[in-house]
Amino acid sequence: DNTDKPIVILGSGLAGYNLAKEFRKLDSETPLLIITHDDGRQYSKPMLSAGFTKDKTAAALALANAGDMATQLKASIRTKATVTGIDTEAHTLQLGDETLAYSKLILAVGAKTHKAPLEGDGTDQVYSINDLEDYDRFRQAAIGKQRVAIVGAGLIGCEFANDLRNGGYEVDVIAPSQTVLPSMLPETPAKVVQAGLEEIGVRFHLGALAHRVVKQDDGVKLCLSNGEEIETDLVISAVGLTPNVELASKAGLAHQKGISVDRLLQTSVPDVYALGDCAEVDGLVLLYVLPLMSSARALAKTLTGTPTEVQYGAMPVVVKTPACPTVIAAPADQNGEWQIEGEGQDLSCLFKDAEGQLKGFVLTGAKVVDKLALSKALPPLLT
Ligand code: FAD
Repeated sequence: DNTDKPIVILGSGLAGYNLAKEFRKLDSETPLLIITHDDGRQYSKPMLSAGFTKDKTAAALALANAGDMATQLKASIRTKATVTGIDTEAHTLQLGDETLAYSKLILAVGAKTHKAPLEGDGTDQVYSINDLEDYDRFRQAAIGKQRVAIVGAGLIGCEFANDLRNGGYEVDVIAPSQTVLPSMLPETPAKVVQAGLEEIGVRFHLGALAHRVVKQDDGVKLCLSNGEEIETDLVISAVGLTPNVELASKAGLAHQKGISVDRLLQTSVPDVYALGDCAEVDGLVLLYVLPLMSSARALAKTLTGTPTEVQYGAMPVVVKTPACPTVIAAPADQNGEWQIEGEGQDLSCLFKDAEGQLKGFVLTGAKVVDKLALSKALPPLLT
């Protein structure tokens, strides 16, 4: 009998807390336990790459602490607690020496950052920023400093570049690709985004790998594969994220890129679910807020007795580079062609298949206003 055991949510990021919130809208009684490796403060992760623009410390970005969240959600919250094992047969999990029982378990354990493969004695000046505590450490380190080098020119690298320029820092961006946002943008709009960032003073070093970071009297020196050397104070590594699958894997749950779940968000094991950055939903790994919000709404219904499949509509991503506003709705496959129109910074790039069906788009500059209208013409990602 599972009825007196709590529903346990692992993780207090946007996925974990949104699920708890949606669940409480439908069920105010069932015991809820949230366990998190971090300090349980609620914050909006997308704000981490706009924090210098808005001049917000980590404390200012925190919307509520764990105690307030516990009251708000009528939940118990265990912070600074790392679950190390799950026994899916016994319906228990391992937290240090403690064994805790669950009726249903939801994995909302997020993704972890890749580390740029840097050698040298200056690696203690290399930061990854994927949660509020990371942001806090970086912000403290940046006090009184002038120069930041960012390794990686993807979404997060470009957003930090814009944000740190807005905060008054000198910014160098290093990436092996020839263009920015290489996995998301065709060349023409990528050049426009790059030009927008260059216009506000970001320096790009593309086609080069950063491989060494060496301490200097003043700051560090970053050595690139093309022989270039960049003198800087701090380095941000922004070279990508991978869903956290280790815990699930150890417990015998199916996983590929992320923890495999069906459209009910159920893993390969009964009573264990997953959502957010850690989950691969019907083959899709989407490391964004909108999918986890849809997932939280559907899963709350499923957990309260109404099995509900998650649906994803079209979900364009707004890139927070005000130097060149950009919206990207990546096509699901490469069967089609880009049609690019516009002038200067204002581009409308439509990806259409042979039948003329719109499958994706990129809008830059003034053209971002077309986002809503174009989104309506896109096929949903999961129906
Ligand atoms: P996380 O926030 O990573 O939460 C994971 C939680 O699991 C944490 O609380 C952690 O402590 C806990 N945990 C992990 N392992 C364990 C364990 N073993 N035991 C206990 N607890 C554990 N998306 C957008 O849509 N728009 C944007 O503009 C945007 N901007 C972004 C900017 C930045 C800088 C970053 C890094 C991401 C951005 N994203 C954006 C992505 C978006 O923020 C994420 O998709 C989302 O926040 C993921 O939430 P999550 O709850 O799944 O994961």
